Amino acid sequence: MLEITKVLKENGYKVTPQRLAIYNVLKSNKKHPCVDSIYNELQSKFPTMSLATVYKSLEVFKNLGLVQELNVGEGSFRYDANIIPHPHVICLKCGKIDDIESSDFLNLTDYAEAKTGYRITGQQVYFYGYCPKCK
Ligand code: ZN
Ligand code: MN
Repeated sequence: MLEITKVLKENGYKVTPQRLAIYNVLKSNKKHPCVDSIYNELQSKFPTMSLATVYKSLEVFKNLGLVQELNVGEGSFRYDANIIPHPHVICLKCGKIDDIESSDFLNLTDYAEAKTGYRITGQQVYFYGYCPKCK
């Protein structure tokens, strides 16, 4: 929590309890929630907080490199407080998103650079399918 407070302050953003709570939802689980589920989860704690506040805070976090936005298609986005590049697997039925924790992917960026001559500045790797519950 200290790190986010510092980054927000250094960049001239207010550190509000709402902002910290939004970040904490992302930091405390690996569910990769969408804006709506973050909003719903915080409703009881912050009944006056608007959906727009959640949107705006996520935009700020994203721009400051505190969270990564996952583009899961058709204009829908999910959020992840783990900003180290890592591949994801997405369930086409229930929408669940899991991390793929494997060191096999660590060299993917180096590999892509070596193969293409590009200077790679980011990567998103998605696998699609059906989760153990849905398959
Ligand atoms: Zn599923
Ligand atoms: Mn993730």
